[in-house]
Amino acid sequence: MRRYETLSVFPEVFDGYLGSSIMGRARRDGLCEFVSHDLRDWTHDRHRTVDDAPFGGGQGMLMKPEPIFEAVRDISSQFATAPHVIFFSPCGRRYEEADARRLLQHERLLFVCGRYEGIDERAYDLADEVISLGDYVLTGGELAALVVIDSVVRLIPGALGDEMSAEDESFGDGLLEYAQYTRPASFEGREVPEVLLSGDHARIARWRQASSLVRTACWRPDLIERAGIGAEQVEAARLLVGDGHVD
Ligand code: SAH
Repeated sequence: MRRYETLSVFPEVFDGYLGSSIMGRARRDGLCEFVSHDLRDWTHDRHRTVDDAPFGGGQGMLMKPEPIFEAVRDISSQFATAPHVIFFSPCGRRYEEADARRLLQHERLLFVCGRYEGIDERAYDLADEVISLGDYVLTGGELAALVVIDSVVRLIPGALGDEMSAEDESFGDGLLEYAQYTRPASFEGREVPEVLLSGDHARIARWRQASSLVRTACWRPDLIERAGIGAEQVEAARLLVGDGHVD
């Protein structure tokens, strides 16, 4: 069974999210297990200290290396399979869907969550990889760990249930997802594209492919470039979907 573990000074923040909805069901169904470790369990002083002032001066506190080294070594040796160890930092590599698919291949992941001004640089020697969620700064790595865990768990076969599939979504083919609609077919003068009501599955598939292209060209032209899609193809897609309903 897949095992996803976090190491943090706020271990209590994981329970609510990982116990709810699809994450909670995945655990109950035995698809994976979540364990949140308290970094302070690996301190040895009365105050359970995990931070200290930075050498060279400057504001704020840094996480000390000793408890992190001790904890990661200890946790790693608890099972036959050593975990793939992930640290978080705005200085890490930017996370994307392809990483979720790659991380799914690991039986055991350990997420080390920073706090304060970050972590003593030497602790990164323990990391198999360092992930950034994006170009902004969070107060801690816990949300980053939840984001990565969520994006990986939903890819475990069976996690989304029969009614949903992770195949047909944004980034699956390198593009954004097509526009989707549910009832009512007409809402305050906004109409669902007629083709989706036609029952003609080949036409619907063509429309969806075109919608996906047009939306990606509008919001994420970088992905169009990455996929090597030409301007003529985008233009043809625009003609097919018409205006409205896509952006
Ligand atoms: N001083 C650091 C930021 C520390 S923020 C800097 O300027 O680079 C404290 C912790 O929050 C980090 O150790 C990391 O675990 C987490 N964090 C902050 N921003 C993040 C981001 N963009 N992606 C992933 N984790 C982040």
